[in-house]
Amino acid sequence: MQENGNMPVVHVINGRQKKLLQGHPWVYGNEIERVEGEPEDGALVTVVDFRGRYMGTGFYNSRSLITVRLLTHRSEAITDELIAGRVKAACDYRRFVMQREGTDSCRLIYGEADRLPGVIADRFGGVIVLQVLALGMERYTQVIADALIACEQPDCLLLQNDDAIRRKEGMECFTKVLHGELPEETIISENGIRLAVDVRGGQKTGYFLDQKDNHLFVRQFCRGARVLDCFSYIGGFALNAAAAGAAEVTAVDISEDAVKLIDRNAALNGMQISTVCANCFDFLRQQVKEKQRYDVIVLDPPAFTKSHANMANACRGYKEIALSAMRMLPPGGVLATHSCSYHMPEDVFVNTVLSAAQDLHRQVRVITLRRQDIDHPVLAGYPESHYLKSLWLQMLD
Ligand code: SAH
Repeated sequence: MQENGNMPVVHVINGRQKKLLQGHPWVYGNEIERVEGEPEDGALVTVVDFRGRYMGTGFYNSRSLITVRLLTHRSEAITDELIAGRVKAACDYRRFVMQREGTDSCRLIYGEADRLPGVIADRFGGVIVLQVLALGMERYTQVIADALIACEQPDCLLLQNDDAIRRKEGMECFTKVLHGELPEETIISENGIRLAVDVRGGQKTGYFLDQKDNHLFVRQFCRGARVLDCFSYIGGFALNAAAAGAAEVTAVDISEDAVKLIDRNAALNGMQISTVCANCFDFLRQQVKEKQRYDVIVLDPPAFTKSHANMANACRGYKEIALSAMRMLPPGGVLATHSCSYHMPEDVFVNTVLSAAQDLHRQVRVITLRRQDIDHPVLAGYPESHYLKSLWLQMLD
């Protein structure tokens, strides 16, 4: 059954075979009963269940909590062609779901969900930013880069291997242009808006492409409205609100670099956006004190919790900002509030936000519950690939 009989074999404890059979790509250290052979970190291993039944082939890394990342659940050899084929399949999917007028940027590879563990590739106009965050994939970097260049013909491909996760996986951090030349400034189009994105020094790969569709969704509530965009980063929601004809837009972020880019982006589009560099928790409290009023408020904080352990704290955080926002929204006002942490289950997040309305004795309409844009696909059997919750409420009274 196994392709490579001489590969080290990882035996998974009884009970953990089910998730693998459902397509989950990870084996945690505490799910391993024993390892046959002495795999080096980054080497391929065969994974079997407690009965010795083949579960898949993947990369071993003793330094990572995720000890094995599976590349396949089928009996097939892991070759350069297989990896290049996965890249092409990922690009093909975007070609078919990302035909959006006025948008030239999207996520091309979303790691495990595209069956390329630890690999992220984002297209920002003519620039592709690639990140390889799993040790086993490191040796395929050039294969992945070549396949991306063949599929997408970018002007530039930047390998942005500077995420701290790499150190945890036992790799160095560095940034390198692998193809073409990096332009002085990278300007993308999203929903017809021009955005300057910092692909070298910005957060993540430079921009949060997962919110594109939600940025567009906010527009319908914004005509003539006073809009507040909290945790705005470089202004995705704020710029779309302004494009929709908002009367007034305020964007708040704690990062000075982000706020500078909001100003730049407002200028690029000839829009008026008031920017504030502040901690949104303090800012919101202050605004409530001043009895400010907004018609639309967006809350899009960073992940408050990176584990299950501090869920209670995270809930307190989501509730506090929701309470402040609701206090400033009149009847008819709209709140769009987000959680980007996988560890925050959707129902817990929704109930937390709704409990804020209950505390204020106000009724709300749940307009919709959305998620990340579809260029960040969800892989069946791998619930971690759905992380972004986007809850839209209207205050009824
Ligand atoms: N809304 C953005 C993405 C936000 S990411 C978009 O649609 O593109 C989260 C942002 O929150 C980051 O820009 C980060 O700088 C900012 N941030 C983190 N902690 C903060 C805090 N306490 N107050 C204000 N901003 C904060």
